[in-house]
Amino acid sequence: MKIFCIGRNYINHAQELNNPIPENPLIFMKPPTAMLRKGKPFYIPDFSNEIHYEGELVVKIAKNGKNIAPEFVSSYYKELTIGIDFTARDIQKKLKEKGHPWEIAKGFDFSAVVGNWIYFTDEMKSGNINFTLNKNGETVQRGKSEEMIFSINDIIVYLSKYFKLQIGDLIYTGTPGGVGKVKSGDILEGYIEKENLLYCEIR
Ligand code: ZN
Repeated sequence: MKIFCIGRNYINHAQELNNPIPENPLIFMKPPTAMLRKGKPFYIPDFSNEIHYEGELVVKIAKNGKNIAPEFVSSYYKELTIGIDFTARDIQKKLKEKGHPWEIAKGFDFSAVVGNWIYFTDEMKSGNINFTLNKNGETVQRGKSEEMIFSINDIIVYLSKYFKLQIGDLIYTGTPGGVGKVKSGDILEGYIEKENLLYCEIR
C-alpha cells in the first residue's frame, strides 16, 4: 500500500506558507507505517517543536491502473474520507531551505491519520465536496474540493503516469488554508459535509 500526498493544492494554503503555485501536482509519499487509524491518539514526537495539522480529503484507489486515461479515471476510486497530514513544520522549513527531500518532516510514524471511509455519491464525483477540520470544537479549516488547483481526476491521471496505482493506495489531496500547530490535549475532528468521520486526540 502506498500513501501519496499532494502539496500546495489550494491557493490559500500555498500563499499562507509563501510558496509558489505549482504547474503540475506536487507529489510526495509517506510509508505505510505512517498510517494512524481513527480514534487512536497522536503522540507528539520528541524531534519536533512544531507539529502542524493539515486536514485533507483522502481518496482510496479501487482498481489497479497505469497510464489511466482521463475519460476512465472516475472508475478508479469509490471511497473517500478526511485525513490529517501531520507535518513537522520546523524540520520541513530547514529541509526546504537546503532543497532537500521532506521525508522525515512528512513521513514519520503515525503522521497520516485516516478517518472512516464513505462512498462517493454521484454528486460528489461530479460536483463539490465540503470538508472541515475542528480543533477543540472550533472550525480551523474549511475546504471545498472545487477549489483544488488539481482535481482528484487530474491527480490520479498524473500519478498513474509515473506509478502503477494499486487497490488500497491512498491519496491525500492537499490541505486548504488554516493549518496550525498542535499541542498536547488538543482534539481534532474531521467532517465531510456534516458527517463526523475523524477523531484524534493529541498527547
Ligand atoms: Zn498536506
